[in-house]
Amino acid sequence: MNPIVIKVGGSEGIDLDALCADVASLVHDGVPLVLVHGGSAETNRVATQLGHAPQFVTSPSGFTSRLTDRKALEIFEMVYCGSINKGIVERLQMAGVNAVGLSGIDGRLWEGRRKKNIRVLEDGKIRVLRDSWTGTVDRVNVDLLNLLMGQGYLPVLTPPGISEDGEAINVDGDRAAARTASALGADTLMLLSNVPGLLKAFPDESSLLREVAYEDFDEAMEFAEGRMRIKMLGAKEALDGGVGRVVLGDARNGQPVRAAMDGVGTVLMGAAK
Ligand code: ADP
Repeated sequence: MNPIVIKVGGSEGIDLDALCADVASLVHDGVPLVLVHGGSAETNRVATQLGHAPQFVTSPSGFTSRLTDRKALEIFEMVYCGSINKGIVERLQMAGVNAVGLSGIDGRLWEGRRKKNIRVLEDGKIRVLRDSWTGTVDRVNVDLLNLLMGQGYLPVLTPPGISEDGEAINVDGDRAAARTASALGADTLMLLSNVPGLLKAFPDESSLLREVAYEDFDEAMEFAEGRMRIKMLGAKEALDGGVGRVVLGDARNGQPVRAAMDGVGTVLMGAAK
């Protein structure tokens, strides 16, 4: 049975207790899973407390991301690999699941190129920012994941990833999860967040788009703003990488994984084979 890859976001309102309880019950039912998580809201809080307020940049193609200088990267690691990752592992361990928390640096799990200089849009003009600790995942260490899963461990994965030179790079969690799903040959990728799915008229939750066929992707992309654009890009990369379906689902309460398995949310279908 191919594993399901679940990415849970780190935005305000996400219920990690509900998520972990649901994950644990599926693991006990024998469903093979890999869990990926974010941590943006908590990182913003901690960064502000430490006097290094978060900054965001927009690329010329309209994607927003965190400005990651060395200090921002260190705070990012404290929260993502520290409090959030260990909090999830602890919840799962308390529920009887032998979870192992790893970042993309560990065992070169998520390897890619560092983009030291990034182009950003500022007041309508393109600027080049230097000293960026960011990049994209090109390779997933599938052997490491299979080694863990084969021995009954549940991998709990989080950014950053690692550059070819061994440096930590901030990679997008949704896109890293997409890469992981493709590399593992997953049938389903779930991107769970603090919205019911892709909304046609954000933030009106009654405007949920229930299904998007592969050929209608570009049309659906027009509804996505801000961070939802990267989630959609990740979804597309997963489908192009052979994942059968991507579900954008709600992680604010209930049984978020089981709901997404039942297709509650926005279901994006791969190209007909
Ligand atoms: P997470 O950190 O949980 O992965 P993000 O904050 O990165 O989630 O992305 C989800 C956010 O995208 C929502 O909270 C919402 O503010 C924003 N968004 C923008 N456009 C839409 C849309 N059309 N439908 C749903 N959410 C949208």
